[in-house]
Amino acid sequence: QPSVAIVGRQNVGKSTLLNRLTGRRQAITEDLPGTTRDRLYIPMNHAGRDFELVDTGGMEPLPQDTIARSVNDQVRSAMKAASVVVFLVDAKAGLTPQDHEIADEVRKSGKPVVLAVNKADNARLSLHAAEFHSLGFGEPMPVSAFHGRGVEDLLDRVVELLPEPEAVAKAAPGLRIAIAGRANVGKSSLLNALVGAERMIVSPIPGTTRDSIDTPIDTASGSVVLIDTAGIRRRGKIERGVEEYSVIRSLNAIDRADIVLIVLDASEPATAQDTHIAGYARDQGRGLILVVNKTDLLENVDMTEYDRNMAARFKFIPYAERLYVSARTGDGVDRVIPTSFEIQSERAKRIPTPDLNSLVRQALARHAPPSAGGKLLKVLYATQVGVCPPEIVFFVNDPKLVHFSFERFLENRLREVFGFAGTPIKFTFKSRG
Ligand code: GDP
Repeated sequence: QPSVAIVGRQNVGKSTLLNRLTGRRQAITEDLPGTTRDRLYIPMNHAGRDFELVDTGGMEPLPQDTIARSVNDQVRSAMKAASVVVFLVDAKAGLTPQDHEIADEVRKSGKPVVLAVNKADNARLSLHAAEFHSLGFGEPMPVSAFHGRGVEDLLDRVVELLPEPEAVAKAAPGLRIAIAGRANVGKSSLLNALVGAERMIVSPIPGTTRDSIDTPIDTASGSVVLIDTAGIRRRGKIERGVEEYSVIRSLNAIDRADIVLIVLDASEPATAQDTHIAGYARDQGRGLILVVNKTDLLENVDMTEYDRNMAARFKFIPYAERLYVSARTGDGVDRVIPTSFEIQSERAKRIPTPDLNSLVRQALARHAPPSAGGKLLKVLYATQVGVCPPEIVFFVNDPKLVHFSFERFLENRLREVFGFAGTPIKFTFKSRG
């Protein structure tokens, strides 16, 4: 897994840039005052390439160090493992002697470098970027971490410089099932229970991400690769950090999966972290199973009501399957793999265009389509353009007339007739007047 280090003197905006680059995954870079933080690796995917951003945010200089020394130490250690270095400077402050010192270190590293000029918030400041040419790292890229300007271009450039994925570790064939969830819900235990029940074909192989493990297994339903996020609890010292790191790892596993097991702890109420993970899996179009683990801890619980509450908590994914298991006793675990395959076949389903259109006609006859300013929404034609997840395009007279509630109505009708259990469906409305 190639890594990318962002270096630069203090106050050039490294943390802001990091937060901007990592987007939804920014929680991990939150400051943990008073702790000596490990260096963190933030899994990223851009333009189809996986890499890690090295977060050296915790490596603040010690007060007794001279600034020059501590900055240089920081820069050196961050760069050592990196495949690409992003050297960040500050358009507002201009070129400083410290920038020159860091430039020397960057040059010595021999790594490919992207020179980014931050705080180029407007055209005038962007002009200043030219001054940094003299550092000798080619064309400086103006960015504004704060406003998000130039950040996509920066990522494009970084990805170009990443080493070729040398004979990319051949991905094992099979249905890819991610075991996601926050720390201590029982992900590792579930993995063991799943593997224990099946025949492992080969020993686990390192996944494409640090600490992630792909476990290929042969099951009665077919070949499976379990993608899990082991190795999280090593960082047990900083509780908060662990929790967030666990979530980030989950997001990375989700990126590489067909089906996501969102593992929950039956003995605790679902948290915002749980719904965050589920929402991410939905947005990525993965098949969804809520796996409620540790059911052996539930005593005298009305499961019907429990399940109703669970559905309410996850009402943003009403189509997700819900399975109740105990990794400890093995209860219910045998449903996980077959259900995953069932969902995968739903994800891969293609509805013939005539069937889809007759459903849409019927639906519109039952439910007056929305209108605005005397203009009525007309659905001219619908067609499924993709699978895994299913993607349906509706050609309409005016996409602006489509409201969320109408979209939901269509989705419900579609699911009543065609199923699509366990999978998100992607809807697109296109204008054809
Ligand atoms: P992970 O961090 O999500 O991988 O969680 P682990 O698999 O390490 O489990 C966390 C804790 O929950 C451990 O102490 C497990 O023994 C316990 N645990 C896991 N599954 C179950 C279960 O089904 N029932 C009970 N009672 N405890 C469980």
